[in-house]
This record gives sequence, structure tokens and C-alpha cells, in this order.
Amino acid sequence: MEMANCPECNQLFIKDKHEICPQCYQKDAEAYKELTSLIKEKPSIPLNEAFDQLDISSDTFLRWRRNGRI
Ligand SMILES: [Zn+2]
Repeated sequence: MEMANCPECNQLFIKDKHEICPQCYQKDAEAYKELTSLIKEKPSIPLNEAFDQLDISSDTFLRWRRNGRI
């Protein structure tokens, strides 16, 4: 069992299959859903503008990039 600090909220959590804590994972999943529906609605929207509009942090952006989600 590995403990880690959540890169989003800095809380200590048990690192399971996700690299962020369960609370942030939930928020993350919701933000990702919002992002995909925004892109579906406006396919020509620049990614950085979509992130601005949804108020998603650049840390999240970089994490998604790294994980190949965007
Ligand atoms: Zn967290």
C-alpha cells in the first residue's frame, strides 16, 4: 500500500490505481465529461479556451495530456 500526496489538493491518500485522491478523481471525472460535451457542442473551440471556460486548472490539463486523455 502506497501513500501519496494528491497533486491537485495536496492531501495524503492511498495511492491505488489513480494518481489523485478519490475526491479529486470524482471532480476530475466530472470536468472531463463537461469538457467532452463542450467539444462535441463546439468542435472548433481551441482546447485552451475550453479549459478556460470550464475553469479547469493547468495542472489538470497537463495530467490529462500526460495520460493521453486529450
Ligand atoms: Zn485531491
